[in-house]
Amino acid sequence: MKNILLSMTAADLGQVALDMGEKEFRGRQIAHWIYRAGVKEIEQMANLPALFRKKLASRYTVGRASILNLSQSKDRTFKLLLQLDDGESVESVGMLYSDRFSCCVSTQAGCPVGCVFCATGAEGYQRNLAAGEIVGQVLAVQEAGQKEGLAEVNGRVSHVVFMGMGEPLLNYEATLKAVHLINSEMGIGMRNITISTIGYVPGIFRLAEERLQLTLAVSLHAADEALRRKLVPGMTRYSLKDIIQACRDYIKTTGRRVTFEYCLLNRVNDSREDAERLAALLKGLNCHVNLIPYNPFPGNAYKKPEKATIDEFRRRLEEMGINVTQRAQKGAGIRAACGQLRGQHNL
Ligand code: SAH
Ligand code: SF4
Repeated sequence: MKNILLSMTAADLGQVALDMGEKEFRGRQIAHWIYRAGVKEIEQMANLPALFRKKLASRYTVGRASILNLSQSKDRTFKLLLQLDDGESVESVGMLYSDRFSCCVSTQAGCPVGCVFCATGAEGYQRNLAAGEIVGQVLAVQEAGQKEGLAEVNGRVSHVVFMGMGEPLLNYEATLKAVHLINSEMGIGMRNITISTIGYVPGIFRLAEERLQLTLAVSLHAADEALRRKLVPGMTRYSLKDIIQACRDYIKTTGRRVTFEYCLLNRVNDSREDAERLAALLKGLNCHVNLIPYNPFPGNAYKKPEKATIDEFRRRLEEMGINVTQRAQKGAGIRAACGQLRGQHNL
């Protein structure tokens, strides 16, 4: 089997060139073709000598996944189903706004955490993705956006959120490597990158030490210990107290504000008392809360609260001094919204 170029930095690629008897600067050229021009074949790297291209192609391949399906919704959101080398598949989402082109990537095929309201969790866990498989999703989404004539903002992805399938901090090395490739090789600013975690405490401490300017989002969903355990059965080793402590450390070390995500489930975690408990838990932290009204998927019995309940929850948090935003729902018609990705064809 051939080695894969996607996942290598310009410096790594320079070494590959040197090892093959070429000049080191060829590495920067190859990186440009892969990460900026988005080519899928070594043959297309026009400024490399033909003989080098041939030699390179005999041992390496770019390593982009194939697109099995593209679904597009009316709200300028689209979803790609990508097939990986070993036959596993993952989903990635592109979202176009007037001022940005945002891409949501998966970090695992399936997810081992198994949150009770999440379609990915319901599918079980297959494996971690490699860094190249994560960056490849950004390139695939960018290309699809350009092809569909959807993308503005130079047709380039401007923001990347690690909020697709899987728990990024349980696949730490590949996630971090992908962050660096997206930042340095694709040229997307650190501040435009967000990692969302279900609250894997050792990962939060570790990420803090990297001192990156990215945004950390922590999915809480409950401010009550017993309820949190019920909703997030795969992460019970860490209490809410542990999670908040890790976030406090993260804020102190990085100087960055943390986002807390809260999926609102009808009559489960949406009462006035729930809002008050949440505000009390987060008191004094440099943070804001992002409310995500539940997105339904087949076979799941949870419901989205009424608009009035959502508004009331939000108002109560604000009254208690918490900054709140509400996630605009995008891509629901094609099951591309938060928690609806499952890496399969929609049946
Ligand atoms: N595993 C990470 C990142 C992926 S999930 C995490 O859980 O944070 C991205 C966000 O979508 C999380 O906040 C998650 O809790 C939320 N989510 C999951 N299922 C959902 C659903 N059915 N409706 C709305 N949001 C959901
Ligand atoms: Fe995994 Fe996140 Fe879904 Fe929970 S919400 S099952 S952690 S992807």
